[in-house]
Amino acid sequence: MDLLSWLGRAVEGFDDWARPFGPVPPHPSHQVSDERFAAAFAEFAARMRDNYPFFHPRYAGQMVKPPHPAAVVGYLAAMLVNPNNHAREGGPATADMEREAVAAIAGMFGLPDHLGHLTTSGTMANLEALFVAREAHPDRGIAYSADSHFTHRRMCHLLGVRGHEVPVDARGRMDLDALEALLRTGAVGTVVLTAGTTGLGAVDPVHDALVLRERYGVRLHVDAAYGGFYAILGSRGAEGLDPAPWRAIGRCDSVAVDPHKHGLQPYGCGAVLFADPSVARFYRHDSPYTYFTPAGVHLGEISLECSRAGAAAAALWLTLRVLPLTPDGLGAVLSASRRAALRWAELIRAAPELTLYQQPDLDIVTYFPQAGTLGAIDAASARMLARGMADAQDPVFLSVLRADANAFLARHPDVVADADGARVLRSVLIKPEFNDYLPRLHTKVTELAHQGVSVAAP
Ligand SMILES: *Cc1c(COP(=O)(O)O)cnc(C)c1O
Repeated sequence: MDLLSWLGRAVEGFDDWARPFGPVPPHPSHQVSDERFAAAFAEFAARMRDNYPFFHPRYAGQMVKPPHPAAVVGYLAAMLVNPNNHAREGGPATADMEREAVAAIAGMFGLPDHLGHLTTSGTMANLEALFVAREAHPDRGIAYSADSHFTHRRMCHLLGVRGHEVPVDARGRMDLDALEALLRTGAVGTVVLTAGTTGLGAVDPVHDALVLRERYGVRLHVDAAYGGFYAILGSRGAEGLDPAPWRAIGRCDSVAVDPHKHGLQPYGCGAVLFADPSVARFYRHDSPYTYFTPAGVHLGEISLECSRAGAAAAALWLTLRVLPLTPDGLGAVLSASRRAALRWAELIRAAPELTLYQQPDLDIVTYFPQAGTLGAIDAASARMLARGMADAQDPVFLSVLRADANAFLARHPDVVADADGARVLRSVLIKPEFNDYLPRLHTKVTELAHQGVSVAAP
């Protein structure tokens, strides 16, 4: 895809659509000369250089990458119209695209029936699921694992619901025995399971939690913001993934997923889906300004947010037309990421300078320089992070994850715990390009480890 030419065609398409409505001379208040814009744009372009190269495999840090060109073209083309998916009269075309894209996501998770919509983020998607959880069980709290996303605790506070933190096992997955002990008290109405934790990519045993739902009458919400699209591979047991948790998602009460992480979308695209469409009753409200076109249910009637970019739905819909949620569509992107992560884990195991923090469940690789004590590991990891970014000739951008001493010792009992925790390095291999780049990345990271440790032990 030639992005430049397709962006031009998106603008032409808008002009073709707009022409029959008749010309609208630009109002003087809007008019800006090319000269004036050129000056502002030059300043802007210079400012934008202060960025990390998320597009490049030298950037092996957080779960960030640019959107697919199809998403960029879809977003721009729709943005020129600027539909608002709150109500159907905000833009029927993108409202329909949103419903179709959400139905495709429901299909990916194997939800037989669903009520769902896009959101601006995973946090908003989870908030909606927790809001419905509170309405369904007003007198009971919400449980989430110690490794779940930090926003669950925060959103419980916001909703005025008691949050309960459940410990994790030595792989970062929710400890279901601890969960069951908590459920026995009757204090919990909803359990949040994570399919791909943000730190380690650990997949909670969603399938085993299904039994507890029946036994204790709790709701199950799956936070699959980061990992959700792995259901394409996971539900088929592809790429060495255990199918059990992925197949179980379709039997849970709700699920959140972020198309703006693994779904190739620009920021501003999360999704929440409920298995029981009747939860729409919890959202019931009227609006004096909107909902005046026939639509069955308007998307705004089943969401907590009001205005939302129709362009986000357009971008996702167009992307899914060319890369559907199948193993050889978007699945091929995920397979490449996953293979790169597994191969890198092997290389790290074989490297004397580095230790694998834990085997990746999905595509997040965590590792640390060999240094003996938590204090030394922490300092050496921080040095590797800083030096990697500071190298002007051959930079590499990593990220760090703070592990507390217990979590560390559960995985590496030989390490001396002279501190209450340590930072380890964390690379989310979210781009398929890591596959080819891996040897270079590994060489660079082992060099950094070598330097980092030699300074730690003078
Ligand atoms: C990223 C993430 C979130 C938060 O999503 P945002 O889109 O950043 O708001 C929630 N849960 C998990 C597991 C995540 O990885």
